[in-house]
Amino acid sequence: MTPDSTRRELLDLDTRHVWHPYGPMPATVPPLLVEEASGVRLRLADGSELVDGMSSWWAAIHGYRHPALDAALTGQAARMSHVMFGGLTHEPAIRLATTLVDITPEGLEHVFLCDSGSVSVEVALKMCLQYWRSTGRESKRKVLTWRGGYHGDTFHPMSVCDPEGGMHSLWRGVLPEQVFVPAPPAGYDAPVDQSYVDEVVRAVEEHADELAAVVVEPVVQGAGGMRFHNPEYLRVLREVTDRCGVLLVFDEIATGFGRTGALFAAEHAGVTPDVLCLGKALTGGYLTMAATLCTASVADGISRGEVPVLAHGPTFMGNPLSAAVASASVGLLADGTWRSDVSRIERGLRDGLAGATQVPGVVDVRVLGAIGVVQLDHPVDMAAATASLTSRGVWLRPFRDLIYTMPPYVSSDADVALVAEAMVATARVA
Ligand code: PMP
Repeated sequence: MTPDSTRRELLDLDTRHVWHPYGPMPATVPPLLVEEASGVRLRLADGSELVDGMSSWWAAIHGYRHPALDAALTGQAARMSHVMFGGLTHEPAIRLATTLVDITPEGLEHVFLCDSGSVSVEVALKMCLQYWRSTGRESKRKVLTWRGGYHGDTFHPMSVCDPEGGMHSLWRGVLPEQVFVPAPPAGYDAPVDQSYVDEVVRAVEEHADELAAVVVEPVVQGAGGMRFHNPEYLRVLREVTDRCGVLLVFDEIATGFGRTGALFAAEHAGVTPDVLCLGKALTGGYLTMAATLCTASVADGISRGEVPVLAHGPTFMGNPLSAAVASASVGLLADGTWRSDVSRIERGLRDGLAGATQVPGVVDVRVLGAIGVVQLDHPVDMAAATASLTSRGVWLRPFRDLIYTMPPYVSSDADVALVAEAMVATARVA
C-alpha cells in the first residue's frame, strides 16, 4: 500500500502533467492509482482490490503476472531487449510470425509486425493502396466500410471509423472521404436481411473502380458500439470483393485470439481475408505489438511494382521482448483450454446478466463468447457508474450507452458472477 502522502503527491502530479486517453488536460475526473496487478485483480494504491472485467482494453486474456509470460519477458530481456529490424532479424520475431501464419485462416502467408493496432490498420490500408498502384490501377484509392465500426485513432483508420460515433465532424476536410454502407443488422443469430445484402453488394459493385479495399471488424463491432452480426455478411463481402476485384481486410484487433469463441472471428464465416490485422491480446496485454498479415498475392503485387517495397518501417518493429511474450501468450492458447474457459464465461455472463433485461432503461442485453453487454436507452453517467462498480469491487469502463465486460479468460465463475452482478446493479444507477 502506498503511503497517503505519496498517493496524494502522485495524483497531483498526474493531474498537472499526464494526459490520459480521450480526456481533457487537466483531467476533470481523477483516475484510480494502480500499484500492482495479479491474476484478474488490480491492487490500488489505497490497498483495495478490483476484479478487472476489462482485460486492460481487451488485451490481458491470461490475466496479469502470468508466470509463462513473465518468464518469456525476463528470459528475453536477459538476451536482448531490442535490435533494429532493418537488415537484422531474430528468433522471437521469426517464431512469432511463423506461428501466426500457422494459426490464422489458410492463405495468409506474410506478416508485418508493427507497434499498435492503429498502425497495423495503417499498414493494412497502405498495403491495399500500394497493391493497386503497383498493379497499374492507381484510381483504386478508396475504402468501403460499414457504419458502426472502429479501427483506431490515427488518421486513415479514423476515416473508416463510424462517422457518427467517431470524430468525423471534428476532422471534416482532413480525413480522406471513404464509402460507407449502413451498419450490419444486429444480432449474431438474427436471420440474414436480403435487402441489406443487396445494398452492400450494389455499393461494392458501383464503387469497384475506385475501391482499393473493404475493411470491417468481423462478427463484433467493438469500440463503435459492441454490436454483433451474422457471419453470413462476411461471406457476402468475400464473394462480392472477389468478383469485383477489391481487397478484403478484417480488423481482428479486438476479436482475435478467442474472444468470440472462435480463435479468429473469420472462422465463424469460414472466410480468409486478403489482409488481417491483429493486436491487443497478441502479447497477452503485456507490451504493445500488432501484426498485419497478407496473402502471397498481395505481397507479390506490391513487390512487382515500380517501388517494389512496402514503404513502412517503425523503429521498434519486431521488438524481441514483445515478440517473445506474444509467442508465449499464443502458446498458452495452444492446448485449447481457452475454448472451455470462453464458453464457461459465456454461460456465466448469460446467467448473470439475465436480470438486466428487467431493469428500467435497459434496451438490450447481449453476450457472445467472453463479451457481455448491457445497453441503456441513455448515456451512462460515468461518475455514478464508476462509483457503483468500484464499490462492488469491480473495474469496468463503460462508454456511451454501454456497460460491458471482456474479462480475462482465467476469470473464475465467482469473478464472472461478481462482474455480472455489478453490471446489473450499475444499470440501475447509471
Ligand atoms: N481496431 C479495433 C477493432 C480496435 O478495437 C482497436 C482498439 N480498440 C484498434 C483498431 C486500435 O488499436 P490500438 O488502440 O492498439 O491502436
